[in-house]
Amino acid sequence: MSTEIIIVDDDPLVAEMLATAASMVGFKTHTYIHAVDFLTHDIRVEDVVLLDLNMPGFDGIEVIRALSANQVSVALILISGQDRGVLHSAEQLARAHSLDVIGTLSKPIQIPSLQRLLLKQFAAFRSHHDPKGVQERLLPHPQEVVNAIQENQLLVHYQPQLDMKTSSLIGVEALVRWQHPERGLVYPDMFIPVAEKNGLMEQLTSYVLRSVLEDRQKWHAEQLSPHLSINISADNITSLGLPEQLMSMLEEHQCDPSQLTLEITESTLMGELVTSLDILTRLRMKGFDLSIDDFGTGYSSLSHLHRIPFTELKIDRGFVMNMVMDEEARAIAKTCIMLGHELNMKVVAEGIESKAIWDMLLEYGCDHAQGYFIAKPMAADVLLDWSRKHAN
Ligand code: C2E
Ligand code: MG
Ligand code: MG
Repeated sequence: MSTEIIIVDDDPLVAEMLATAASMVGFKTHTYIHAVDFLTHDIRVEDVVLLDLNMPGFDGIEVIRALSANQVSVALILISGQDRGVLHSAEQLARAHSLDVIGTLSKPIQIPSLQRLLLKQFAAFRSHHDPKGVQERLLPHPQEVVNAIQENQLLVHYQPQLDMKTSSLIGVEALVRWQHPERGLVYPDMFIPVAEKNGLMEQLTSYVLRSVLEDRQKWHAEQLSPHLSINISADNITSLGLPEQLMSMLEEHQCDPSQLTLEITESTLMGELVTSLDILTRLRMKGFDLSIDDFGTGYSSLSHLHRIPFTELKIDRGFVMNMVMDEEARAIAKTCIMLGHELNMKVVAEGIESKAIWDMLLEYGCDHAQGYFIAKPMAADVLLDWSRKHAN
């Protein structure tokens, strides 16, 4: 099985240049100058299509539509000589058609970026189709998740949040992990969806909150008292008893609700609005802080901000991570900061991976920072050491 790179570009010179770049890193290539001819090609799942958007006659968007209509599953790299906005929207469109866009490239094309993208995709495809790789990617069975909760296999890691003006530690976000006996450390994206689909979120959230409250007591004894953020799922805000449930756990551990921020993603708010509005308003009245997580990725973000008493806005890491290279991502991050401040919210940026991003966000007036540039999520005792070193 070998991956073939199929190039669809009306400019013969560009097509030839792309073909040379791909063959230099070991791929076979096939070139089409006319998009309609390409549609007759027998495309295989392991192939990669380099698709120019701006072609006379049949253009790239029409190709996307045709691929989707024919249910062709292939990795796509979109290319355009127009501004990044066009590439962005074409990418969104292709994804909406369930096509697998593995990258976008602006003309003039940087050959090394193209080659890196192709090699990365090749490696990903290989590992996906290797039987052991597939085994590891399988989602866990719901009963396994139940066992994990009952047998204390879940653990909570904490990622520091800094005040951008002073660089001091102000809070931590609790992020759950699963120490699986065979698979090793499993990340939440692999098991939270299973827990959500099988009505296990109430148990899982209680588990996380209990761990957080116990760790908080240990930190207190060592004079460390960061603000605590925990993530809440859609399922959690369907039960009207949630505020009382949380309050009773907090009372048990002598923790005031003002110590806690509940992070809610926008997709969470897509469900039963009246119930979630009831619960969230009561949580806020009891003194919990409420954060809108991954802001900018969901639907009707602005009306949620208007309705729900959020105290914090967390800019989605997709925008933050790309701020340096991508003008639109930067504009969105900047606008989120202004919007949050206009609505009297603190603004947190997560996904800060470099000093360059930190500096930009500081200039734009962002309040709090979280990301690998500061620290990765870590165990409770490691955080204690980290915070001591950080304070010096
Ligand atoms: P989230 O709430 O948006 O959490 C932030 C995620 O971004 C974490 O991934 C964190 O490790 C990652 N991150 C932080 N800084 C950087 C960075 O600089 N670069 C990159 N590439 N990533 C960064 P993680 O821990 O894998 O969690 C993924 C998601 O799983 C979380 O997204 C949250 O939605 C969910 N989740 C985690 N723990 C819980 C939980 O206890 N309950 C619920 N309901 N959901 C949880
Ligand atoms: Mg979060
Ligand atoms: Mg987030």
